[in-house]
Amino acid sequence: MKHTSETKALLSKYAQRGVIGMKGKKHSKETREKMSSTHTGKKFSTTSRKKMSDRMKWEWKLGIAPGFKKGNKLYLKIKNRFRPKGEASPNWVGDDIGYTALHIWVRKQLGRPEKCTACGKIGEIVKMRWSIQYANISGEYKRDLTDWRPLCIPCHVAFDKKRKQSIDIR
Ligand SMILES: [Zn+2]
Repeated sequence: MKHTSETKALLSKYAQRGVIGMKGKKHSKETREKMSSTHTGKKFSTTSRKKMSDRMKWEWKLGIAPGFKKGNKLYLKIKNRFRPKGEASPNWVGDDIGYTALHIWVRKQLGRPEKCTACGKIGEIVKMRWSIQYANISGEYKRDLTDWRPLCIPCHVAFDKKRKQSIDIR
C-alpha cells in the first residue's frame, strides 16, 4: 500500500515534468487509431457474418448443413423464414440464389470433382477456387444429379456457349 502511494507520487512528479505526460499523449493517439481500426474491423465482420448466415440459411434450406435434422427447431425456423411470399412459386431455382444453392447441393452430393470430363484436366486450386466445376447439362438446372457433369472453367464456358446456341437453333 505504502509502495503504491509512493509510486503514485513519483508518477505524478514525472507527469508534472512532462515526462509521462508526453508518453501518455502519444499512447492515447495510438489507442484512438487502434480503436478506429477495431471499428472498421467490426464493420467488416458484420458483413461477412451476414454472408455466412445467408449461406447457412441456404444450407439449412437444402438440408446440407452440418447437424441438419428434419424437424429440428432451427430447421423449422429457417424453413418458415424462407417460405415463398404471395405468388412466389416453390420453384425457387431460377434466381441467382437458387443457382448458388443448387451448386452447393450438387457439390455436396457428388463431392469435389477430380477432373474435367471434356478435356481430362485434373483439378487444382486457381485463385482460391477449385478449377473443376459442375456444369448443368440440360440448362434447366434440375435438382437431378445426372444433369450435372464436372468441367474445367474453359470447358464450362465453351459448353454453356454451345448449349445456348443449340437452344437458339431449336
Ligand atoms: Zn476441360
